[in-house]
Amino acid sequence: MADAKKRLDTNVAGNFFVDATCINCDTCRQLAPHSFEEVGELSAVTRQPEDDGRVHQAYQALLACPVGSIGTERSDKIQLQAAMSSFPLLLEGGVFYCGFNSEKSFGANSYFIQHSEGNWLIDSPRYIKHLVDAIDRMGGLRYIFLTHEDDVADAARYAVKFGATRIIHRADADAMPEAEWIVDGVETVTLSPQFELIPVPGHTPGSSALLYGNRFLFTGDHLWWDPKTRSLDAPRRLVWRSRAMLHSIEKLLNYRFEWVLAGHGDRVKLPPEDMQAHLRFLLDQRRSALAS
Ligand code: SF4
Repeated sequence: MADAKKRLDTNVAGNFFVDATCINCDTCRQLAPHSFEEVGELSAVTRQPEDDGRVHQAYQALLACPVGSIGTERSDKIQLQAAMSSFPLLLEGGVFYCGFNSEKSFGANSYFIQHSEGNWLIDSPRYIKHLVDAIDRMGGLRYIFLTHEDDVADAARYAVKFGATRIIHRADADAMPEAEWIVDGVETVTLSPQFELIPVPGHTPGSSALLYGNRFLFTGDHLWWDPKTRSLDAPRRLVWRSRAMLHSIEKLLNYRFEWVLAGHGDRVKLPPEDMQAHLRFLLDQRRSALAS
């Protein structure tokens, strides 16, 4: 729980606040961009939510915050319960954002796919009863796809609970050596009909994207949407090999997809042609940066 005594001075006056334990993971700014902004090195409430919709978003942010840095002066139990019930949050086509980001993955987003051949978890949220029960009601888990070594969080607990098969690339498998399915090499692997693992080394040697139905690309920390520049972006820091990352961005031009669903950074839906154009723009930028 957030501590009012640690309330940051950067918050505006009012019910919601961020305290000094914030790790600046960006989760609240994605869920409630009207109310939360980055101020200096941390997040803050820069506008109090005024209507029910925005209060709902602020409570979603409070619950998703991986370190409990968001608090209220007066809790609204009905709104809090409604926000809890909204997770996992349907995005489109049986794809959900899980919420309850984990500190163990520095607050990375995780996703759930409800599918007739068995459900998928992409990276791991916190292991909490509400989410475990919700996943149980939705049919459990058949696969847990791990995009890279940083975002495994509570994957082992979810795997044991649901008897799920964990999938990770060998180059990042030290983070989950007991994974049931360890993938080798640089070629795309069809994991099951509609699901392809695309190796995208760069941020880490074993980074992998999951392409679902030629519509949804789960990218871990390889690629995300930057709402400020309204463009796709990729890591500049914490990069294993820049040239490998460049090739991995280029590789994605061979695929059509509408959604980028990132671990860190915003998710986005665009027409496939626009997505390709954004990818080409990013590639050109990074080629120039490497050449200079
Ligand atoms: S979700 Fe929590 S830790 Fe992450 S930026 Fe917001 S307040 Fe900080």
